[in-house]
Amino acid sequence: MRRTEIKAILSQEEIGAEVVVKGWVRNYRGNNFVMFVALNDGSSLQNLQIVIDNEKFDAQLLKKITVGSSLSITGIIAKSEGKGQSIEILASLVEVLGTANADEYPLQPKKHSLEFLREIGHLRFRSNTFGAITRIRHQMIYAIHTFFNERGFYNIHTPIITGSDCEGAGEMFQVTTLDLKKPPLTKEGHIDFSEDFFGKQTNLTVSGQLEVEMACMAMSKVYTFGPTFRAENSNTSRHLAEFWMIEPEVAFADIYDDMDLAEEFLKYLISYALKHCREDLEFLQDRLLQEEKSKPEQDRSMPLIEKLEFVLANDFQRLTYTEAIEILKESKPNKKGQFKYDVKGFGTDLQSEHERYLVEKHFKKPVILTGYPKEIKAFYMKQNPDGKTVAAMDVLFPQIGEIIGGSEREADYDKLYNRMIEMNIPTEDLHWYLDSRKYGAVPHAGFGLGFERLMLFVTGMGNIRDVIPFPRYPKSAEF
Ligand code: ATP
Ligand code: MN
Repeated sequence: MRRTEIKAILSQEEIGAEVVVKGWVRNYRGNNFVMFVALNDGSSLQNLQIVIDNEKFDAQLLKKITVGSSLSITGIIAKSEGKGQSIEILASLVEVLGTANADEYPLQPKKHSLEFLREIGHLRFRSNTFGAITRIRHQMIYAIHTFFNERGFYNIHTPIITGSDCEGAGEMFQVTTLDLKKPPLTKEGHIDFSEDFFGKQTNLTVSGQLEVEMACMAMSKVYTFGPTFRAENSNTSRHLAEFWMIEPEVAFADIYDDMDLAEEFLKYLISYALKHCREDLEFLQDRLLQEEKSKPEQDRSMPLIEKLEFVLANDFQRLTYTEAIEILKESKPNKKGQFKYDVKGFGTDLQSEHERYLVEKHFKKPVILTGYPKEIKAFYMKQNPDGKTVAAMDVLFPQIGEIIGGSEREADYDKLYNRMIEMNIPTEDLHWYLDSRKYGAVPHAGFGLGFERLMLFVTGMGNIRDVIPFPRYPKSAEF
């Protein structure tokens, strides 16, 4: 007989039907006569209750049923008398697929701290919290592809190994097969990368944008969704060394189209989560409410689902960087010196404390900032007529700060080339990028959404290390 998933059994409630279920024991209890096992197979947050009549089975077999062990159960679906579940399985056949030594198994049927779960990252999929996050993460990946597919975008696989060190010099992980103890040297005594695997110096990509722009100049609407790597030493709850990024790029589009797309995209994803991940979101919401119980009422955050609905119900506040700087300069925390970094005026690079002030305290809704000083933004952004700012846009979210960074791109060859020279960007390495401004250049715009930042927002989790299966961050590449 084929295995039925627990989710299907719980939703269909076919009383009297015989089924085979397989999964892992989350908990068990019982007495001399009967044993109740809570079985989970990942298909649902809910466990399925298995009722085992001790008399019918070998005592040695039943002893092997411990927390963490895996079982195959054949039985009949019955109405449950007990509270906590409406149906249960009356077992007729019990098979222990894999035992789990009770003295060693680190997960107990109780609440573990997120820090502890991170230490046992290889097992944390078996916790309710990480199971919920895993299901939501999957639904969000699916929703992202659905959103773009419905709108005629093509998915482009951009390279993970890159030969152009232009975006984040110094923040990249180098890829090499050279012997680090005895690297080949040039006559001048430098490392001779012509002997390296690719015949030149290569790194892990920090963004797929430059390559996806090339596809955009033929396919019109494209996006890349891949892993990106940053060797920045940011030990924060919002930075990873390896994270996933969604980068759409649209031809014949300007900065306003870009903002519209970003807002529509985020709202689509949030509403998708509310529709398709209700049970897991409710679980995470309860978890957060429990955690905040001890806080005074005015310090508690909005319940998760309410927060998600709130974002859907409101237009994002759009304003210029220059306007935002004025608000921040005049703000109470700035005047009282409560920001870690003072806001001095035009040119200040906004920190997440400033971004969060605008979103959480001033506007009380998501914010899109445009027109950043060109000095603090990348070389490829479209230069505004004022000569000072570029057509950049950042989307700022509560609890997170920057969730999206994007821009209209500079489509004019001369302006782009001159900016690259000014910023010491190697134009020879990027000859191919410049080509796109030589041959049929058109206005185009795009952005990058950090997938784990989205996950932070949707799940309400506080640390980015808890929304990716195996986090990589400074001094940690476990598992
Ligand atoms: P931040 O200022 O927060 O470090 P950034 O300006 O470096 O972000 P971009 O280079 O614009 O970010 O990258 C685009 C998006 O990728 C960001 O809006 C954010 O959502 C995400 N992102 C950037 N760096 C990280 C990181 N280290 N870990 C996870 N997500 C990140
Ligand atoms: Mn950064």
